Amino acid sequence: MSTSYRTLLDQTKAAIQEVDPTAADTLRLDTNAVVIDVREQDEVDQGAIPGAVHIPRGYLEMRIEDAVPDRSRPIVLYCAGGVRSAFAAKALQDLGYQETVSLAGGFSAWKSAGLPWAIPQSLTADQRRRYSRHLLIPEVGEAGQQKLLDAKVLLVGAGGLGSPAAYYLAAAGVGTLGIVDADVVDDSNLQRQIIHATDRVGMAKVESARIAIEALNPDVNVIGHETRLAKENVLDIFAQYDIVLDGTDNFATRYLINDACVLLDKPNIHGSIFRFEGQATTFVAGQGPCYRCLFPTPPPPELAPSCAEAGVLGLLPGTIGLIQATEVVKLILDIGEPLIGRLLTYDALRTEFRTLRLSRDPTCPMCGSDAPSSLDAIEYSDVGCAIPALTGA
Ligand SMILES: [Zn+2]
Repeated sequence: MSTSYRTLLDQTKAAIQEVDPTAADTLRLDTNAVVIDVREQDEVDQGAIPGAVHIPRGYLEMRIEDAVPDRSRPIVLYCAGGVRSAFAAKALQDLGYQETVSLAGGFSAWKSAGLPWAIPQSLTADQRRRYSRHLLIPEVGEAGQQKLLDAKVLLVGAGGLGSPAAYYLAAAGVGTLGIVDADVVDDSNLQRQIIHATDRVGMAKVESARIAIEALNPDVNVIGHETRLAKENVLDIFAQYDIVLDGTDNFATRYLINDACVLLDKPNIHGSIFRFEGQATTFVAGQGPCYRCLFPTPPPPELAPSCAEAGVLGLLPGTIGLIQATEVVKLILDIGEPLIGRLLTYDALRTEFRTLRLSRDPTCPMCGSDAPSSLDAIEYSDVGCAIPALTGA
């Protein structure tokens, strides 16, 4: 015997719990309930409950376990008028979700009750296609992609580390990429600096990188700083960005980047390379050591050959630069465990990664108790590009 729609709806409503907008708002604010919007995209674009997770009704059973793994967590479902969410609540109940309720009257009742709502920032149709593999990951999703598009990341150096980092950050949709570099593309760069190209030898690296990035992803705004970083300009440049990626190859600039990031409280994603070995770590002031906690002073010049003397395997900066870029994306999305307080080392010949624990030095000249409040009194002199040995490690 078949059932009419009306009967089915009545039976469904009898089997689930409905709440009015005020009760839904209390659940949302006081019980860590997940609010799930089961409407279609074009409806969500007109306005939604802040913080709601959007899973269209047609995908609910498929996606709910990724979005809400804990079946005891309270869930508030809503649609436009309370019908689709009633069927959705029944479906989740059948999947074992124990505290699922449907918002009676839906989003229109919510708005009539004067409760908060907002028009969500949303991706264009082109962006949904471009970033579809991100949108499928619950930890990224549309909200995460929006964070990436809103992020401002500064790459210091468009060289070996900066090239792969810039390329992948641009592909991932990081919306603003600043690049500091005063050099021009040389043909000896092309063995590893993959963002440049043979027909751009002689061009400013900042300009060459812009051409490559704009061809890859028109969503990215590239800001070129064709200058040498110095203590006179570093604070003004860094202040415009959320995160700094250190892709430099000399100690003077590394200390300058570190000190400016500590002063401005910006994360500093560090990487360095030497022949077949590389290392990476993430410095976040106050949460772990800074570069000077590890290396209070530069090594003597005889222990620090310049890169031109030392050489580097062309593939090595690809590995390290992408670890740095991955750290950047994790910080933007606030997911996973960044390399704060850990130094990752990579030996390409042995294909071996190691992690060393790093601790903060309470007497550190930059982030310790006697830390300076400006860069004025600090000397920055260039002493080459090798990886210094960790004292005591
Ligand atoms: Zn320090």
